[in-house]
Amino acid sequence: MTHTRPSGTNWSGNHRYRAAETLLPADLDELADAIRSADALRVQATRHTFNDVGDTDGALISLEQLPVRIEVSGDRVRVEGLVTFAQLAPVLEAEGRALHNLGSLPHISVAGATATGTHGSGSANGNLSSAVTAVETMDATGTVHRIDPTHPWFPAAALGLGALGVVTAVELRTVPTYTVTAQAYTGVAWEDLTADPRRLFASAHSVSVFTTWGDPAHDLVWIKATDADAEPGYVRDIGGVEVGADLHLGRIRTVGNTTERGTPGPWHTRLPHFRAEALPSDGDEIQSEYFVPLDAAAEALAAVRAVASTIDPVLLVSELRTVAADDLWLSPASGRDVLAIHFTWRNDNAGVAAVLPAVEDALAPFAARPHWGKAFTMPGETVRATLAHVDDFVAVARAADARGVFRNAFLGRTLGL
Ligand SMILES: Cc1cc2nc3c(=O)[nH]c(=O)nc-3n(C[C@H](O)[C@H](O)[C@H](O)COP(=O)(O)OP(=O)(O)OC[C@H]3O[C@@H](n4cnc5c(N)ncnc54)[C@H](O)[C@@H]3O)c2cc1C
Repeated sequence: MTHTRPSGTNWSGNHRYRAAETLLPADLDELADAIRSADALRVQATRHTFNDVGDTDGALISLEQLPVRIEVSGDRVRVEGLVTFAQLAPVLEAEGRALHNLGSLPHISVAGATATGTHGSGSANGNLSSAVTAVETMDATGTVHRIDPTHPWFPAAALGLGALGVVTAVELRTVPTYTVTAQAYTGVAWEDLTADPRRLFASAHSVSVFTTWGDPAHDLVWIKATDADAEPGYVRDIGGVEVGADLHLGRIRTVGNTTERGTPGPWHTRLPHFRAEALPSDGDEIQSEYFVPLDAAAEALAAVRAVASTIDPVLLVSELRTVAADDLWLSPASGRDVLAIHFTWRNDNAGVAAVLPAVEDALAPFAARPHWGKAFTMPGETVRATLAHVDDFVAVARAADARGVFRNAFLGRTLGL
């Protein structure tokens, strides 16, 4: 008999899952049985989303009891089951391999992160879904399909929001391991920060800017440089001075939970902002994020800054990053290099929902796309209008899941699925 546990809430507690219990299949046969007998089903992974993308009125299922396998072979790694980046990275490192990038925290699952287009920063770095070379999905009949770039469904499956089926394994492209040195700078004036965004964000492997949109004392430029990068001269040229031990991310005062600065170390110990063994970010928070064309970065930032006083009461910090273009149909970076404008809010659903339209209106002229795993209020037709291949995605999702088992309210509302 398949075990269960209470479904509870997402990581930050701003969303309570509708299903009281989550199914815990012990193997693929139990998973297949559960799927076949469900009218509606979604996977609950490491729960680091901030909306109902992973919820359902039917059954929730977790892969946490399934065997975990990590197989490194050449320039590929295949992960099976509920594997997190914190589990995956040391295995890759031991084999002399690495991922091209990581998000701000390693606590999240590979399947959940790639399903939603999770990204780090770096003008030459695509999001984590762009490293996917194959996904294995179990459909509503319990049959597993391997979908690689030769398969017509691949641009839908590599970033699929769980709409094609339960992802039982993900294969990722790896690169030779590399060393990163991180340093944080403060004191850069807003006009210098936004004078040449392309140059600033291309000045190292990964560049993140933290801001509260007005007070220069809160602004922070976090540079993660590889050995191949030049000295981070540009940030110094525009007035950046190194931050000491006391690191503030806007109104979040870090508590010894951030990754090391000032010394070189393996990629996975420096690229995330937060250490694997510590609580990431603030914990008591909600996040939102919007992606605009990098070419319009300065104008988009000015538009958000114009509504800074509206958002300020609920804002903890904003983070600005870049993501290289890819060709995945639902990717926030689909077809264009983007600036990612992120907001960490106080954990106040009503307060956040009240200010989001101001940000979304400000970014509407830039055809901003929302982060699939974070809070947004844009109507579905506005979201769909920013994605050239959304109809292709919907057609594949319907073909892959004729019974509609993996559809939910979020997919209906945002994609018309
Ligand atoms: C502190 C914090 C920091 C963050 N930093 C970043 C960041 O730097 N960059 C960024 O882009 N995002 C960031 N995020 C957002 C986060 O990366 C995404 O929301 C991601 O989707 C979380 O994955 P998860 O597995 O924890 O989420 P879950 O909510 O468990 O799953 C996400 C979605 O994937 C689906 N899914 C998961 N596993 C499967 C599967 N096996 N088969 C089918 N569907 C599946 C779920 O149903 C759900 O729809 C952050 C979130 C937090 C809380």
